[in-house]
Amino acid sequence: MIAVIGAGPAGLMAAEILASGGRSVTVFDHMPSAGRKLLMAGRGGLNLTHSEPLEVFLTRYGSAAGRLAPAIQAFTPDTLRGWAEDLGQSLFVGSSGRVFPTAMKASPLLRAWLLRLTARGVRFAFRHRWEGFGADKGTLSFAGLPPVVAEGVVLALGGASWPRLGSDGGWATHLAERGVTLAPFEPANCGFTIGWTEMFRQRFAGTPLKSVALRWDGHVSRGDAMVTAYGIEGGAVYALSRGIRDEIAAHGEARVTLDLRPDLPEAVLTTKLRALRPRDSLSNGLRRTLSLAPVAINLLRETAAPPPRDMPRDSGALAALIKAVPLRLTGCQGLGRAISTAGGVIWDEVDEQFMLRRLPGVFVAGEMLDWEAPTGGYLLQGCMATGAAAGHGMLSWLKRFESA
Ligand SMILES: Cc1cc2nc3c(=O)[nH]c(=O)nc-3n(C[C@H](O)[C@H](O)[C@H](O)COP(=O)(O)OP(=O)(O)OC[C@H]3O[C@@H](n4cnc5c(N)ncnc54)[C@H](O)[C@@H]3O)c2cc1C
Repeated sequence: MIAVIGAGPAGLMAAEILASGGRSVTVFDHMPSAGRKLLMAGRGGLNLTHSEPLEVFLTRYGSAAGRLAPAIQAFTPDTLRGWAEDLGQSLFVGSSGRVFPTAMKASPLLRAWLLRLTARGVRFAFRHRWEGFGADKGTLSFAGLPPVVAEGVVLALGGASWPRLGSDGGWATHLAERGVTLAPFEPANCGFTIGWTEMFRQRFAGTPLKSVALRWDGHVSRGDAMVTAYGIEGGAVYALSRGIRDEIAAHGEARVTLDLRPDLPEAVLTTKLRALRPRDSLSNGLRRTLSLAPVAINLLRETAAPPPRDMPRDSGALAALIKAVPLRLTGCQGLGRAISTAGGVIWDEVDEQFMLRRLPGVFVAGEMLDWEAPTGGYLLQGCMATGAAAGHGMLSWLKRFESA
């Protein structure tokens, strides 16, 4: 029996490859059911992958791109799309190039996937918490259960964000005990702290800032952001979160600017502001002429120097502010609410087949490896591609092992 531990997208993909290769597979998970984080991802529409060219796609993985490339070139975004369609999910490409199931949720895909895996003979053992390797070679320890013997193991235990969904990072101790080096866990795709005034926080926490552009250190990210009680989060923020997180760690803060009307050049904004009707209040003028929502208009006030907090009256200065609202980010949200995790098993510990060099026969896949990527479908693509690679790696290893 091959033990796959972790019933998230990486583990299920490894199980699928192994079962298709004729192996007997049991998927263990300590939760009562499979794919809880995948289902949570479905609440946001389930961004499965991205349609941009593969060379561009691979750059999204930053310093880990070189190690992930062979797995993603073998299991490309097109492969993932074909795989999902094969499970009866019709897909569409959004205006940003992101790929979603038409159902905009994960449950139909997960249901079909689990049915197919079961039909291929994969067994599931839920409520099994992995607690490391047993004293005897090839045995696995699960909380409160006798040791389990396996011919090979795929660990796909996830990162450490949203621990209530199952991936709590507890596995790190069990690998560290066996000498495996891990990079510390850090939040990735996370929100950031801003010291809002009480008035702004109370009135606008939970309000989206639609179609904005965030700028930091020469990088631009377009999309939506969300004002929260603690600061700011959302797609436009996550895309730059890796660099911003590192800058805050180094300097205690990061200065970013928010462009509230990224499609309008500053000169056009100035002209429009000059033409505002004198009898209108400035807020009304901004709402009518520039379609700025109350949250955006109040953000202009919020970032003006006190007292009193007010927007510049000069059209040129106001246009410049609308194009670059300054925000001071002073902390990042913890792992508990981050979309994903940076850190994990470092690449030097893993061979080209995704096997742990120190533990022959033990393969690793998914978010537990030391890589990070922005939202946009890169996370699920990375998890499924490494799950497939670990599955294929295990098949070749077993073949070599058995013929030796
Ligand atoms: C709110 C949210 C929205 C997201 N949206 C998207 C999106 O739209 N697109 C995208 O690409 N990505 C998205 N992601 C990220 C994506 O869901 C994850 O990257 C992906 O699920 C990680 O897959 P994995 O298989 O590596 O780990 P996981 O899905 O975390 O699965 C790991 C499994 O291991 C089990 N496990 C952990 N420890 C043990 C143990 N000791 N014993 C037994 N079992 C254990 C867990 O219970 C879990 O089932 C989102 C994440 C969140 C939180």
